Amino acid sequence: MPSPEQKICQNCKIQFAIELEDLDFYKKINVPPPTRCPECRLIKRLSWRNERSLFRRKCDLCGEEKILIFPRQSPHTIYCFPCWWSEKWNPESYAQDYDFSRPFFEQFKELFLKVPRLGIIQQGTNINSVYTNRVSDNKNCYLVFASANNENCSYGTSIWGSKDSVDNYNIHSSELCFECVDCFGCNRLLYSQECNHCTNSAFLLNCRNCSDCFGCVNLRNKNYCIFNEQLTKDEYKKRLAEFQLNKLSNVEKMRKSFVDFAKKFIVPSFVENHSVNVSGNWLEECKNVSIGFNCEKVEDGKYLFGIIEAKDVMDYTYWGKSSELIYECSSIGRQCSSVFFSNECWDQLIRSQYCANCHSSSDLFGCVGLRKKQYCILNKQYSKAEYEKMTERIREQMAKMPYQDSIGRTFRYGDTFPLDIHSFAYNETIAQELFPISREKAIEQGYRWADPEERNYAVTLKPENIPDAIEETEEQILKETIGCLHEGKCNHQCTTAFRITSDDLIFHKRIGIPIPQLCPNCRHFARLVQRTPIRLWHRACTCAGQKSKNGSYVNTATHFHGTPPCPNEFETAYAPECSNIVYCKQCYQAEVV
Ligand SMILES: [Zn+2]
Ligand SMILES: [Zn+2]
Ligand SMILES: [Zn+2]
Ligand SMILES: [Zn+2]
Ligand SMILES: [Zn+2]
Ligand SMILES: [Zn+2]
Repeated sequence: MPSPEQKICQNCKIQFAIELEDLDFYKKINVPPPTRCPECRLIKRLSWRNERSLFRRKCDLCGEEKILIFPRQSPHTIYCFPCWWSEKWNPESYAQDYDFSRPFFEQFKELFLKVPRLGIIQQGTNINSVYTNRVSDNKNCYLVFASANNENCSYGTSIWGSKDSVDNYNIHSSELCFECVDCFGCNRLLYSQECNHCTNSAFLLNCRNCSDCFGCVNLRNKNYCIFNEQLTKDEYKKRLAEFQLNKLSNVEKMRKSFVDFAKKFIVPSFVENHSVNVSGNWLEECKNVSIGFNCEKVEDGKYLFGIIEAKDVMDYTYWGKSSELIYECSSIGRQCSSVFFSNECWDQLIRSQYCANCHSSSDLFGCVGLRKKQYCILNKQYSKAEYEKMTERIREQMAKMPYQDSIGRTFRYGDTFPLDIHSFAYNETIAQELFPISREKAIEQGYRWADPEERNYAVTLKPENIPDAIEETEEQILKETIGCLHEGKCNHQCTTAFRITSDDLIFHKRIGIPIPQLCPNCRHFARLVQRTPIRLWHRACTCAGQKSKNGSYVNTATHFHGTPPCPNEFETAYAPECSNIVYCKQCYQAEVV
């Protein structure tokens, strides 16, 4: 069998393999192989998407002050959501003739800077939820992103169908949750991760159907457990009260001791449910998916992040919803097919390439902001025959006449948009959330960097002076400008100071949990680092037969491999140097039932 093709990544200069299955896919959709390694491609797609950076600025059409995702100094013309979707402007009026004596990307860049951009994404009916982006149908939500169908939720990303929940990342159908990461169908769950259907509990990891549990790992169908020890109801209540989680000092102590406690337990090599032939992490009902993260109902896909319902896709970041044959795209969804090298397009975009913000259209090449159009190049209308002839010629021209960016990198047909076309700075996008780098490193790679805005407020309450117990916190705190403990010295987009809203105070008092010392951005980044990275390592199962290879976990059941070490190998997001005890699916399931 021929071996995979080896290439040097244009960005990081590391050698990477183009597998035969990749080549088959490129052949099927008639594109050349990529010039960047899979990780650089992923990061580049992520750097297109601003999810959480909001700015107060005027809409360039209606002139009203709005909360939008483009800063005031952005070179783009920015319209608010209703203005952009209105008939008050015509994207075709920006049409350009194609000039075969100039590189494609140079001409696309001119168009991209002229056509008004969609300033924020708030679909459906959003009530009292101005400070939200990439959302639909939320009510009374504040600083909630990539989320839908929620009520009274704040400071969250990827929140779905949930109520009265604050400071969470990726929770579904949950209520009264606080500081939860990757939790589903939970109620009154605090400081927990990877839990399903748990209630009235705190500090749980990898638990299912548990209620009234505290500081537990890998439990199923339990109640009244503390640190995995079964107690009676009365004992549980007595011991739980001793932890006094109403005080921040105790919460911080517990956070640290729970991390140490959890290290003694096994973790599954990756999180997957009802999936077949998959690699990656957080996969739900997927089939034949490799190197996929946060995916649901995807069939035949590779190099994916955040895709729900898609088929036959590769190098695809965010969304799906009945989309197929998508390649090198970001934020594409709702019945799109055969779309390559495009971003921010939805509602049946068909057979289109190098597009941004195009919708309900087909056969577009290098277009921006079009709706209900066919056979357009640089927003200009052609006949079917002209379009086919022209696009063929442009593809050839792009190969022969590459675009060169300011740091000398070349972009041909088959490459995604050059970095100097990207609308956002690296640290305004989710690239910085999932692959945080320094300002210097970003600039060295050709990304832009947004320096923190000048702040003109004075901190009136230092974080160390926030009352330790929630009961001691009075209404006065609503008037304070609280300093963030990180003081902007981290790389979390720290705002250096923050406020507590009256809704925050009501929530914290209701649940009985202390006021945080970090600004919302630093809290968000603190949740992100609880998850494993978006990266895979090939490793062997660390089950040695009767205990873990490091000896600290003793098996409770007999495994399929008996007393010799488990022979299974897998792809996992737990790096070889991390101290977690990583078991293959078979060994994990033998232990945790
Ligand atoms: Zn690379
Ligand atoms: Zn407007
Ligand atoms: Zn901060
Ligand atoms: Zn920070
Ligand atoms: Zn194993
Ligand atoms: Zn085993």
